[in-house]
Amino acid sequence: MTKLLEPKLPEAGLAGSYINGAWHWPESGARLTIENPSRRAPICEVGRGTSTEVNMAVDAARAALPAWRSLPASERGKLLAELGRRLEENAEEVARVLAAESGNAIKTQSRGEALGAAGVLKYYGGVAVEQKGETLPLGPGLLSFSTREPHGVVGSIIPWNSPLQLGAVKISMALATGNCLVLKPAEDAPLAILKLAELADGLFPAGVFNVVTGVGEEAGAALVAHPGVDKVSFTGSSEVGKLIGKVTSDRIANLTLELGGKSPTIVFPDAISDGRLDTTAQQVANAMRFMRQGQSCTAGSRLFVHRDIWDELMPKVAEKSAALNVGDALDPDVDMGAVVNAERYGEIRAFVAEAEAEGATFLIGETPDEDPTGFCPNPTILTGVDNTWRISREEVFGPVMVAIPFESEDEVIEMANDTHYGLAAFLFTHDVSRITRMTRAIDAGWIQVNQGGGQIPGMSYGGTKQSGMGSEYSIEGALEAYTYRKCVTINIEAGE
Ligand code: NAD
Repeated sequence: MTKLLEPKLPEAGLAGSYINGAWHWPESGARLTIENPSRRAPICEVGRGTSTEVNMAVDAARAALPAWRSLPASERGKLLAELGRRLEENAEEVARVLAAESGNAIKTQSRGEALGAAGVLKYYGGVAVEQKGETLPLGPGLLSFSTREPHGVVGSIIPWNSPLQLGAVKISMALATGNCLVLKPAEDAPLAILKLAELADGLFPAGVFNVVTGVGEEAGAALVAHPGVDKVSFTGSSEVGKLIGKVTSDRIANLTLELGGKSPTIVFPDAISDGRLDTTAQQVANAMRFMRQGQSCTAGSRLFVHRDIWDELMPKVAEKSAALNVGDALDPDVDMGAVVNAERYGEIRAFVAEAEAEGATFLIGETPDEDPTGFCPNPTILTGVDNTWRISREEVFGPVMVAIPFESEDEVIEMANDTHYGLAAFLFTHDVSRITRMTRAIDAGWIQVNQGGGQIPGMSYGGTKQSGMGSEYSIEGALEAYTYRKCVTINIEAGE
């Protein structure tokens, strides 16, 4: 174990919620035990906040709002950029905490996530000044202009799969635009967010940025229902997103949703010609996010391969995917860590077992063990599967890809769009006409061509259909989602 990069966890006293610029343990004394899924071992306890802590945090945010929204955007931006700088400086330490709680390998995921989150904070720090309005030419006697105003207090809820990245996005978008924030991280992975709060301590005025730890049905539900929360920004499952939509619609609170996906990866024959086989196979495996155990909303989990290249491409994709070193997320040699908890592991196991019983064939992988020492399933690719099976339609959120052959463009478009999700898609071809036709035809918020990369600050990212509403990662997304337009018309000549 000595070679593992052990995390420096928050001090016991610092693992409560962060409210009004101070650390807080729930008055009830209730705690949540955070486990390391790679080892199935407890690592830390955090406070299990409820409506009491949510009320405190919302009150603090409301009190901080008038001064914060009045601050010049450039000043708010400077503070965000400074938080990004602090995170960058402490990235290694935060990444270890992240790897320990989330199961995402330090080598391929958690280190990159910490640096990526710092990049998001710095990006929004720079573009905060773009919160500009418009003027209207209404004639000589009238002056009409609009400004972008913050909604007020934002309640944000995030999942465990990339908590630091998603937390950085929520913090940046809310604070850059002059809102105050109450953030509820996932019950499985709140520690990296608490480390970020440690780094932010003393930077923002008290009450501007608050973190309440707790479970979804308690702290999460209380935050969504709180009348003092003007806007809710949620990233998580479509199921919970629908519940939240019902609550916010009752009081017409503004809502942004970033939800699940079942993204298609489509490979045409020319993608492997001219010596491109190796690169394309690698990018297909990357798009599946095997290195994140498939626990990514954008994972290209339905692979459609043209029948003419099936026999050549599939063994190569299998070889690339099976080459990943699976194990403890803190081991510096491990490429792919653990899925987040026993429940998720059990769900993945059930999905694979069902597909196996229906007659699917394992190109690589197997039905995961019933009682493993760490929740580390192997990369799994299933063939002999139909696009109508449950494993092809529902989000497995594990390292499980289904591969289906196709013959024509029309056929693959129909299969790709035959889903209630519309988050991402990956297209592999070098034919410009085909790229134009296919990108127009596929229902997805983000289509990558000839690569399987991750989000980049500055690009607007969001889904269609049941994958969500609103977009993130860009200043345009922040302005649309976190501000409203206030129009002012002045009759300059009135009374003259
Ligand atoms: P989840 O919906 O179960 O939980 C997400 C968050 O919501 C957690 O913080 C949880 O505590 C909270 N929550 C649960 N029930 C709640 C309730 N009734 N009221 C308020 N809050 C509640 O999702 P998960 O399983 O943690 O995360 C995986 C899901 O997130 C997948 O569907 C994935 O696709 C999605 N996701 C989407 C994006 C995106 O950008 N589109 C990014 C990452 C993850």
